[in-house]
Amino acid sequence: MKTPEEYLESLKRDTIVYIMGEKVKEFWNHPLVKPSLNAVMKIYELAQISEYQPLMTAVSNLIGERINRFTHIHQSVDDLIKKVQMQRLVGQKTGTCFQRCVGFDAANTLYSVTYEMDKKYGTSYFERFTNYWKEVQQKDLMVAGSMTDPKGDRSKRPTQQTDKDMYLRVVEENEEGIVVRGAKIHQTGYLSSHRTIVMPTMALRSGEEAYAVSFGVDTNEKGMTLVMGRQASDTRKMEENIIDTGNYKYGGHEVFVIFNDVFIPSENVFMNGQIEFSGELVNRFAGLHRQSYGGCKPGKGDVLIGATALISQINGVPNVSHIKDKIIEMNLLNETLFACGVACSALGFQREAGNYEMDMLLANVTKQHVTRAPYEISRLAEDIAGGIICTMPSYADFNSEEVGHLLKKYLNTSDEVSVEDRYKIIRFIENFTMGASSLAYKTESLHGAGSPQAQRIMIGRQANVEEKIGFVKEILDLN
Ligand code: SF4
Ligand code: FE
Repeated sequence: MKTPEEYLESLKRDTIVYIMGEKVKEFWNHPLVKPSLNAVMKIYELAQISEYQPLMTAVSNLIGERINRFTHIHQSVDDLIKKVQMQRLVGQKTGTCFQRCVGFDAANTLYSVTYEMDKKYGTSYFERFTNYWKEVQQKDLMVAGSMTDPKGDRSKRPTQQTDKDMYLRVVEENEEGIVVRGAKIHQTGYLSSHRTIVMPTMALRSGEEAYAVSFGVDTNEKGMTLVMGRQASDTRKMEENIIDTGNYKYGGHEVFVIFNDVFIPSENVFMNGQIEFSGELVNRFAGLHRQSYGGCKPGKGDVLIGATALISQINGVPNVSHIKDKIIEMNLLNETLFACGVACSALGFQREAGNYEMDMLLANVTKQHVTRAPYEISRLAEDIAGGIICTMPSYADFNSEEVGHLLKKYLNTSDEVSVEDRYKIIRFIENFTMGASSLAYKTESLHGAGSPQAQRIMIGRQANVEEKIGFVKEILDLN
């Protein structure tokens, strides 16, 4: 397994990314990217510490060695539960998106889907995929996952779009491989990743075979254009006083990735035209990623609850009954998300390929709750922290010779707590609930792993209402 430093060194490759109108070559030195790399380095660091190894590592079924769990193919229900426990742990240590779950979930999806495709069509996708993934495990690579296409006019299918590139597709094919064109947007942790696994964005139909494509590719492959996404208050990371950033050590990022005729050698292609499996691939990935949220969001929630409890102490109100009750409510909501994450893992099952997958209905229930609870938890955090979270002067003023002493005097609450600590926590809560970190905690909770309606459709499909009607009929002797 790589040390955090080895990981960082290994990312220093020939890459170009556009960030706020600038062409950046050494993205690893850019203030908007560094916090993301710090968050991923934390994963590599925790895997090196013996106390965390039961959660952070596993023994690979592919190479027989101890690997980082983020590259593991789940071999049991216990692995599924440890996955969400690990995500909660890393959330607690970073308070942000640590970006390594998407590729992890994509790998566990492709493991079973490629196996089943080979069984049906006699293809060799499973062998290609496992060879590709063995290398990921051996080199302890960070892998992103690329699903979301721009989609153009939502009322039209991919082939009906005026611009056929609105969904990523194969534009050329020969014996050596395929050439793909299109874009994948909202790419979490793309710059922090060595590779990505590209997948179709939805179930495809006859005539849409060119869009049923999945493959592995380096994130700096020739023909890709990378444009970094903006986040609320992101430029605070570029200011001299990074304290105003809130979570000034850790953060996540998203990239808008355009594939301008990128060549993919056959050995890295894991699906090409198998429309019948495209829907299943999307569902399994969505299920695994919805399970992920039952770990990562409670981990981040723990940090926000901690910050809120701390500010209540600093403000001298920790024993006021409504404050105590609001913190209980935050914990109730947060633990509900975790309970859902553990439950869908505990009811996991084995796929034909031998790997384990979470319960689909409960994973969708998990994610649907995730679309709501972080908003309420954030509202309570803002309630307790007070209006100061959106009116406090800058850290530069806080430390200025002319007005700093005045701000410190009037922002002080108790002689036992430094006013500096109060300043940092207020900024942290601001960042978490409405700044750059709110992306990973709120909007990402809403739209990541599929927008709310996508889970409701799956709950509708999976919840067996006919069976429930049968229960009441039996009790009441109805026909
Ligand atoms: Fe992982 Fe959560 Fe970030 Fe998604 S939002 S990549 S599940 S930490
Ligand atoms: Fe996500």
